[in-house]
Amino acid sequence: MMNSGAKSSLAGRTRRWPIALTERKSVTGTDGEASFGPWLADALRHETAFHRAEIWTIEVEPGDGRHCVAMLVRGASHATVVLTGHYGTVTTSDYGELEDMATRPQQLTQALGKTLAVAEAPAARQARDDLASGEFLTGRGLLDMKAGLAAGLAVCAAFAESTNAAGNLLFIAVPDEENNSAGARKATQALPAIAGERGLDILAAINLDAIADDGDGSKGRVIALVPGTPPSLLNIRDGKSGYDATTPATAFASFNVLSYRRRPDEVLDRFDRLCADAVSACLAELKQRRHSQHGSAAIDLVETIPLHRYEALLDRLDAEARSRLGTVGASLAAGDLPLPEQCRLVTEEAWRLSRLPGPAIVTGFGSIPYLPTNLLDRPAAAGCARLPRTSQPAQTPAIARRSAVRITSPASRI
Ligand SMILES: [Zn+2]
Repeated sequence: MMNSGAKSSLAGRTRRWPIALTERKSVTGTDGEASFGPWLADALRHETAFHRAEIWTIEVEPGDGRHCVAMLVRGASHATVVLTGHYGTVTTSDYGELEDMATRPQQLTQALGKTLAVAEAPAARQARDDLASGEFLTGRGLLDMKAGLAAGLAVCAAFAESTNAAGNLLFIAVPDEENNSAGARKATQALPAIAGERGLDILAAINLDAIADDGDGSKGRVIALVPGTPPSLLNIRDGKSGYDATTPATAFASFNVLSYRRRPDEVLDRFDRLCADAVSACLAELKQRRHSQHGSAAIDLVETIPLHRYEALLDRLDAEARSRLGTVGASLAAGDLPLPEQCRLVTEEAWRLSRLPGPAIVTGFGSIPYLPTNLLDRPAAAGCARLPRTSQPAQTPAIARRSAVRITSPASRI
């Protein structure tokens, strides 16, 4: 338990650090990201609270220029908790004409408030009130995830200053999470030697990244472990390559599914059930519309829409069709389309080659640029063994976090 004095000093630190970290721009893939690691290590060395901590950097690869930053704050005993997160951020261009303020949280918060001065939409009014309240700060990378790193540093400082702290805290900040997670990979490889050389018994690692929080913020960093977070729709589009006045034959949507304990097949089973519910609701509404517009006049409307797994489409393909699909996959993988778009095109081709009739839904795991994880020596990962097959056409590493659904619906039928 912490007393209120400790709490307020934690809050003070947790405000100072995210601003300082955000003001040091570190967009993934830029010089700012490369220089951030040494800068952060130096900044930590100048913190009074960390004068006894061991602080060092680990280059991602020799000559790469990007560094993980590690800090060990020792207490008593070998027991160690790792606090970790990334400092690379996405780009600042979304801020438009406010872009030059994107990494200056106080100025940006004020400027954004002004842009909402005459807004009337409820959400905009809410945002304006929030920004004026002093309770919110904006900035590129502030939420994702310099504020998380700052929370970790504040805890490290409180831990370093406490008198009889048990165990150790190992803080590790990494680059490149927004791209290929090169920093997290390096840190994972380095961790056994770090622990061995320093006599650390690593009991747990806490990812400081905030995922979602519908409350007051106090639970923001553990929400990822709470079951029941709904899938997030990332994008939805039709299958047409340009504008014309016809109804699209296909539509494609990709979702992020956050899971903690579920195996990939459980995730996909649940996702399929959501799709089946959505189809039932859609057909019921279409029937209702048909009735209100046409009365009892007969209009052809399907009774059900079947759902196929992507792998079931593959099972239907003969050798020639598989070869054709492999060629399409290889050509897409050699290009520079985003991975969800590659998955859409591969799925389109597999659907076409399957010669199945529509309308139908095809579901499967898409490929994403997240850290490939090999858990095959753990019993809980048994279901992962099936993953490479479902992602194979796009020839990309797979991890079971994004599901994709394709809906094909010939306009003449519904
Ligand atoms: Zn993040």
